[in-house]
Amino acid sequence: QGIAAAACGYLTIDLGAICRNYLKLAEVLAPAKAAAVVKADAYGLGAPPVAEALYKAGCRDFFVAHFMEVAAVRPVLSDNAVLYVLNGLQPGNELACAAAGVVPVLNSLEQLRRWSAAAHGLGKRLPAALQFDTGMSRLGFSPAEQVQLKSELADHELVDIRFIMSHLASADEVESEQNDQQLAEMQRIAKEFPDLPVCFANSNGIFLGQSYHGYMARPGIALYGGNPMGAAANPMEPVVGLKIAVIQTRTVPAGTKVGYGATFVAPREMRLATIAAGYADGLPRSLSDRGAVYFGDHRLPIVGRVSMDSMTVDISALPEEALTLGSLVEMIGPHQTLDDLAQAAGTISYEVLTSLGQRYERQYL
Ligand code: PLP
Repeated sequence: QGIAAAACGYLTIDLGAICRNYLKLAEVLAPAKAAAVVKADAYGLGAPPVAEALYKAGCRDFFVAHFMEVAAVRPVLSDNAVLYVLNGLQPGNELACAAAGVVPVLNSLEQLRRWSAAAHGLGKRLPAALQFDTGMSRLGFSPAEQVQLKSELADHELVDIRFIMSHLASADEVESEQNDQQLAEMQRIAKEFPDLPVCFANSNGIFLGQSYHGYMARPGIALYGGNPMGAAANPMEPVVGLKIAVIQTRTVPAGTKVGYGATFVAPREMRLATIAAGYADGLPRSLSDRGAVYFGDHRLPIVGRVSMDSMTVDISALPEEALTLGSLVEMIGPHQTLDDLAQAAGTISYEVLTSLGQRYERQYL
């Protein structure tokens, strides 16, 4: 297995698996529909190819976080796809949002008023969604603002509100009572706005049950192979594979110091391989002296600190000459899932994916 000279490893992204995950979620959700969250460059996997594949699989509703992300996604979608901007309007970008035909998620009275003013200025109706804070204290109309919102909504007749939404804070903890509390609060708000459909669940929320489905859910991580089931087995297909190139091997005597700060000292003669990716490639420094990569079925522990562009692994268990310059070891794959790697690093799959960066050779399957 050779490696393209310029890259530090291969990142494979299985678009077919993303589409099958989408269809699986759509099946769980039916009759509610499934949107797709493609913010942060589709969790680092490439928003244009991912959105294009999902559109072909039948998805028509796409969420980005910031308006600047629209530019990459809009060109690959047909006109009947809708793009929603989760973080709402920024002062001054109302006309750009209107021109791009996106649906901003309005999180405050100020945003609603600005959008309404833009609609009046343009003399046409503009679409929007309204987000409510049901307990996360991050984005959305606060309970205090809701009274004012209700009383002034009629003044904003040019704002065409498509749905109301909220976001779950603890959906990854199936037993958390915060899920029930947020659902109850969303149901109370829905009664205040009986004509508007509800958009509520993220990936994990979909698996909390039908009462969380509303009319449309907003999965992200489950599309990309992350486990939306907490501790239970992952029902989603893996999407990402990551192999890293070996750039040097060496045999060291007992007592040899390895890496920055010499956090690892060889307890015996060892064979080591240095591989060509580090924390600048999204492999957290917290994997230092505790993570591993795989070669075939062999687990190769990471020894010493993860550097910016490389890390060192113990290959003593492998047959001599098994690894040579350009050999590839598995960082994410059948032996170590995305969630396994995230857990070993003490983080979440979302952070691993969105940190992977641009130095791998990407292969879309
Ligand atoms: N909805 C909102 C408002 C979000 O911020 C996110 C992602 O963080 C999602 C949906 C998708 O969440 P997940 O990736 O857990 O499915």
